Amino acid sequence: MMQRTLFSRRGGLLAQQAAAAALDGALAQRSDRRSVSSVTIQPPACMLRPLEVPLRYLFGPGPSNVPPRVLAAGAKPIIGHLHPEMYEIMNDIKKGIQYAFQTENNMTLSMSGSGHTAMECAVFNAVEPGESVLIAINGIWGERVAEIAERIGAKVHRLEKTPGNYFSNKEIEQAIEKHKPVLFFLTHGESSAGLCHPIDGIGDICRKHNCLFLVDTVASLGAAPIFMDQQNIDILYTGSQKALNAPPGTAPISFNDRACHKVFNRKTKPVSYILDMTHLSNYWGCDGKPARAYHHTGPVSGFFTLRESLAILAEKGLEESWRKHKEVAAYLYKGLEDLGLKLFISDKDLRLPSVTTISIPDGYDWRELLMYIMKNHQMEMTGGLGPSIGMVMRIGLMGYNCEKSNADMALHALEDALKNCKKSKA
Ligand code: PMP
Repeated sequence: MMQRTLFSRRGGLLAQQAAAAALDGALAQRSDRRSVSSVTIQPPACMLRPLEVPLRYLFGPGPSNVPPRVLAAGAKPIIGHLHPEMYEIMNDIKKGIQYAFQTENNMTLSMSGSGHTAMECAVFNAVEPGESVLIAINGIWGERVAEIAERIGAKVHRLEKTPGNYFSNKEIEQAIEKHKPVLFFLTHGESSAGLCHPIDGIGDICRKHNCLFLVDTVASLGAAPIFMDQQNIDILYTGSQKALNAPPGTAPISFNDRACHKVFNRKTKPVSYILDMTHLSNYWGCDGKPARAYHHTGPVSGFFTLRESLAILAEKGLEESWRKHKEVAAYLYKGLEDLGLKLFISDKDLRLPSVTTISIPDGYDWRELLMYIMKNHQMEMTGGLGPSIGMVMRIGLMGYNCEKSNADMALHALEDALKNCKKSKA
């Protein structure tokens, strides 16, 4: 399937090159006129060359390759961000997110920005300076959210484990009792470690202690089950570029009534204008007001691609998507073990189906292995991130890339690299 996509993209590349040749001619003529130009900075040479994008197998933790149907949605004509047709598309996106999150929350929308934008939106709106927050850190994402909360002057309490470990409900409840946070943050799919954190029961603990439960599903949505309403998650967000299979740059988020009560009864304004939910809820038609006012210009093409990716998920069905990710991941685990590699997360029920982590094989330099795979197989796999750097290598097979044939290609590339990058460490 990948092969076909890449081939058709190559056709696009030839067309681009022809267009560039025509452009060269036009520019040659224009250079005669440059002698009388009023500008002192000339057009940069790089800008006079056509855009070149290599063909790559994106088998890392994201972004993932995008199906042709989603790419085509992004190439549709631009319409105004405040046109009625755009509102209709945004309404569809809202419904698609409600399905993907399994929520009936009215306050469901997409950020104009990547996953970090949703992280900041959640924290900036739900937390006021001086309030206590509790952040579960077992990889890079908790660390990032702690930093975001610190920047707005929250009292940040860290509940920490080394990458690959998870927190029991008892540990979480004890920490909540101790620090009395207004918000508890947890990463569902810890992509830096390859861990899928259990969620059941944590929302109930947060309710009992009058604390909001914020969950990051950037790396897990569509790949592992999550039920926002049933699991009493108060704020949930994700990103577009992983199992959802849209290009990077949009990030669905949803707030339930408990979260809205806190967000819309603040004493202080959120520090960010662009991320202020008072404005965003109006822009997305979630505030019950008859008119939507201009707040910012949304990424029109990005919303087209997000809608298309949510449509694919709705057609396929969440359960089928979860099943497929689990099946392909299990196939990959077996192949990795057959190569003599060790999976970083030993309990298979805790493994994140979208991003698999392997311990760095003894005697190898992980950077050399990854470089070899990129150079000889045009394939991206990555090392660790944040605290997992030097501990793991990561293989992501998500959404469109989640196929056994791609797992075979990844295994073949790894086997080749293991043969050819032998024992380069002292
Ligand atoms: N959370 C998790 C779990 C992620 O994997 C990522 C992206 N790797 C992010 C947040 C941040 O998303 P983005 O890079 O789109 O800002």
